[in-house]
Amino acid sequence: MSKFQCLTGLFRRFRTFVLRREVEVVGQCRMCGRCCKRLLLKDAGRYLKTEKQFRTLCQSDPAHECFRVIERDEFGFLIFNCSKLEDDNICTDYESRPALCSNYPTKSLYYHGGWLRDDCGYSFKAVTFRDVFMRRKAWGRPRFANVLQGQIEQEKDKRAP
Ligand code: SF4
Ligand code: SF4
Repeated sequence: MSKFQCLTGLFRRFRTFVLRREVEVVGQCRMCGRCCKRLLLKDAGRYLKTEKQFRTLCQSDPAHECFRVIERDEFGFLIFNCSKLEDDNICTDYESRPALCSNYPTKSLYYHGGWLRDDCGYSFKAVTFRDVFMRRKAWGRPRFANVLQGQIEQEKDKRAP
């Protein structure tokens, strides 16, 4: 993880703490398959750097066996492709895909300074200091019913064929 990403994550967590407003994941998957390519994998909160770490991850969670190392990035982290992705970018094992796929994109990605591709159907929606100062958003927690409704909509989007 780069220093910039680290600082971005820290800032986002700080802002959430101060404004007491969680980021929301909005939108839906366009099935482009781009997030199934050239991905980094984590074990116990750390990105994998060695084949040995990858084997250990596969032993503890065999669902990761579908991933193949293709190269390393400039920081030495392993980059993977998934063997279950067809040429037409469709997952051949969608119903049994690993949790990291079915949970994607997680809020944790946002709070660790990550971002989504511009062409991804999902996006992170966060309340900013500017929104609050310009009175575009209220300071404080949104009503529980609204949060629940948002979660239900998100689940519906994920289950949509
Ligand atoms: S989550 Fe985003 S990047 Fe991944 S397949 Fe769906 S639209 Fe594409
Ligand atoms: S298991 Fe399916 S959803 Fe997960 S990375 Fe592979 S192709 Fe993509």
